[in-house]
Amino acid sequence: MNTIGARDMSEKLKEEVWGLERCTGCGLCTAVCNKGVLMFDESVNRHPTTKEFTRLAGYRTIEIDPCKLCEAPCIEVCPRMFEWNPKTLGKVFSLRPKKSGSVTKDLLLCGLELGAIDRIVATDLDRWSSQPTLKFLSKPEDLRDSPLPVPLFSAGLKMINRARRTKRVAVVGPPCWAQALKKLETSTMCVLEPFRRPKYLKISYFCPGAFYPGVLSKIERELGIPLWSISTIEIAGNGSELAFQTGNGRATIPLIELARFMAKGCARCVDFVGEQADIAVGSVGSKPGFETAIIRTSFGEELVRAATKMNYIELGEPSSSTRKELRSFIESKKKRASAVETDKTLLAAIKSLKKPIVDEEALQKLEGLSQVKKKES
Ligand code: SF4
Ligand code: SF4
Ligand code: SF4
Repeated sequence: MNTIGARDMSEKLKEEVWGLERCTGCGLCTAVCNKGVLMFDESVNRHPTTKEFTRLAGYRTIEIDPCKLCEAPCIEVCPRMFEWNPKTLGKVFSLRPKKSGSVTKDLLLCGLELGAIDRIVATDLDRWSSQPTLKFLSKPEDLRDSPLPVPLFSAGLKMINRARRTKRVAVVGPPCWAQALKKLETSTMCVLEPFRRPKYLKISYFCPGAFYPGVLSKIERELGIPLWSISTIEIAGNGSELAFQTGNGRATIPLIELARFMAKGCARCVDFVGEQADIAVGSVGSKPGFETAIIRTSFGEELVRAATKMNYIELGEPSSSTRKELRSFIESKKKRASAVETDKTLLAAIKSLKKPIVDEEALQKLEGLSQVKKKES
């Protein structure tokens, strides 16, 4: 019988996620690794990295396998180690923010006032460099100046480590963060129990992709926008452009011009509308002054109803075209499914090639992918 060795555990992420550029950059694996093996500086790397552990044995330095006897919670929570089935659209609403100008912020402000949320994990922008920075917010005044949500590559779920003693945590991020949290919430692994104690409110934004922070230099250079003047960065134009609010007004740039800055893992992502989130919010299909929201859980619905009653938001019916526009955007992202299929074939081939007897079918799949004809012997 083939057994999985300890070293294989951390190598599995390297091989099946990082090596194939499938990492979403969510950061949850680093939070749950209680041996300090995984690290992630997302301003430098595109996926977590591993630390080497050694000890001296006489005159020799021996490498220690820290993953020995570990249940591998890192693999358990990784959203890329699971095949997600598409969900139906859910309840669609049209919401108008009445306090802060943002539906997400108004829902959070209401949640804080009600005590339905104690803390908020989100990505903020550094005031001078506009680089993404992770924040753990707890006061309404923290929210007022925060440009939530920020579609830049940031490993926000590293912060979940700090949320373990909190009862109710709202997490605002892309759909892949909601997927990772769903994996955590539904796991039965004992070692993950402290991370499952808080109740998570998962709020996603409609996400065509996250951008590596290098995109900021392009914006500074080509649009002539000083980074310190940017107060918000958001996906706009029905999911087709990146918009910046500055002291001098608003500027936009089509996403197609930023393709080379889009995170590699996004190329194989088919969740545009936060299918695992309690609430997903975005501009697609919305009327002027309103935002479109998809509510998938009773927790999400209760918060939206409470925010309506408490006058934080106005609840409206979506227009006749809202669902149509949403579906068309979901379909456009589903085109990335071909990249997912390629990954699956590669993974099957890699696994088969590791077997003592090389699998002929796996070889053929690999050849098909690289379009290299097998030479007749
Ligand atoms: S969680 Fe466990 S298996 Fe994963 S990297 Fe950390 S020590 Fe290794
Ligand atoms: S997708 Fe998230 S959990 Fe998986 S390897 Fe990347 S950072 Fe870790
Ligand atoms: S496109 Fe997918 S992988 Fe990329 S940030 Fe959005 S949800 Fe995450």
